[in-house]
Amino acid sequence: MTVRLRYAPSPTGDPHVGNIRTALWSWLHARRLGGAFVLRLEDTDQSRAVEGSLQRIEDSLRWLGMEWDEGPDEGGPYGPYVQSERLERYHEATDRLLAADDAYRCFCTPGDLREMREQQRASGQPPGYAGRCRALDPDEAASRATAGESHVVRFKMPNEGSTTFEDMIRGPITYENRVLDDFVMLKSDGFPTYHLAHVVDDHAMEITHVTRGDEWIPSTPRHVRLFEALGYEPPVFVHTPVILGPDGGKLSKRHGAKSVLDYAAEGYLPEALCNFLAIIGWALDDSTEILSKDELIASFDLARLNPAPATFDTEKLEWMNGVYMRSLSLGDLAGRFAQRLDDDLPAEVARPLDAGLVDAFTPLIQERVKLLSEVAPMTDFFFASDVEVAEPGEFIARGMRKTPERAAPALKAAVAALEPLAAEWRTEPLEAALRALAEELGLRAGDLFMLCRVAVTGKRITPPLFETMEIVGAAPSLARMRAAVPVLAAAYPSDAPDAVEGGEDAGGGESGS
Ligand code: GLU
Repeated sequence: MTVRLRYAPSPTGDPHVGNIRTALWSWLHARRLGGAFVLRLEDTDQSRAVEGSLQRIEDSLRWLGMEWDEGPDEGGPYGPYVQSERLERYHEATDRLLAADDAYRCFCTPGDLREMREQQRASGQPPGYAGRCRALDPDEAASRATAGESHVVRFKMPNEGSTTFEDMIRGPITYENRVLDDFVMLKSDGFPTYHLAHVVDDHAMEITHVTRGDEWIPSTPRHVRLFEALGYEPPVFVHTPVILGPDGGKLSKRHGAKSVLDYAAEGYLPEALCNFLAIIGWALDDSTEILSKDELIASFDLARLNPAPATFDTEKLEWMNGVYMRSLSLGDLAGRFAQRLDDDLPAEVARPLDAGLVDAFTPLIQERVKLLSEVAPMTDFFFASDVEVAEPGEFIARGMRKTPERAAPALKAAVAALEPLAAEWRTEPLEAALRALAEELGLRAGDLFMLCRVAVTGKRITPPLFETMEIVGAAPSLARMRAAVPVLAAAYPSDAPDAVEGGEDAGGGESGS
């Protein structure tokens, strides 16, 4: 028999990384064994449903490249894959259990239950349904229900003995039945609880492995009893450990408790996030960290999960993203840059974007960007017909802070030195000319380059200057440099003796080239 695993999210918002990691592990396991990966929407708690969740869930899976074989939109042999469209199946199971005296109708009101809890608290008894309606005559209960009295249906747990189930990564787990109360399986609104819906659907969809967070462990003995009462073979249970924040506590928003789509928006590569998530709590060996999707599919095994909680290490994710960014082919990377730029560049920039331009600057920034979201701020000037002249202070690099009045004449001299190169506007002659000029003027080369960089790009931190100027082209580069000269001259007239106060030197940029 081939394996069948499922991802069964509730539509309560965007899937978070912990939830998706479990889905990813299931997907990898199914793919390695050539089985099926099923998407099922668990929308039986209508009060918690968030509009648009299914779309966001599907977008998250698609972005990560986790295609599914059966699901709400694509259907499949076990559909429908949305629980609210499967109500008759839950009712059929409930009727069967009522008829077999494995379940009963409960008419306790919220007020009754509150009172019961208070009594339990006062007398130091464990919480849980005390079983008042268990003793009702079933026929009488049925006629009260027919008369329209509000009620739920509870499953009859055995009062004595114990229930043991096998968790694939933790081994056998046993619960005493007396601590397990008669849980609600069908709610008063006619919708099933998770307990009933999970059992009915995982059986009906022939799911072989139920992978879910370990917060479900205490519910599992109930599920096992329910499977048994319905005459179903239970699946293999795999309860995945929680992901902890770096401080050992719960994941916080800053450290990973974010949705997958947040990571997409921040500019992470899906390959990097997949790799990163797959190895939180699973390892191929003692040292391998970078594993492509194919390598993960070939080697991942649920049976080898570590049951101990693992930590979310944001720095490692960032590092890993950089590794993937640098390992992509230039063509692939340029395609992703172009796609991202299409989203991020302002509407004034003509579409479709100039693909040749993206191809030209991609090699210049491959080593410099850690996130796709950094590309537009770093390269927007390539797409602009004009850049606004930056604040005068931006032009002044460290070595010129005490003599900013040299800025305007130096930039003017740079224009004069580069004008004759318009016909051979390439990296090497540009660099040679500017280095020679710096020497002639007695300026630190980096100070002169900063003037040109900020003039041409509007920024202090850019791709390598001369390559950048080559791509921008002779006429626009020279025009931008010319436009900056009067601004610098006005800010730092050559008779002004004072230095720029508080000039910030970012220290980055293209020092040295
Ligand atoms: N709908 C449940 C949840 O989102 C799924 C648990 C499970 O995978 O069985 O928590």
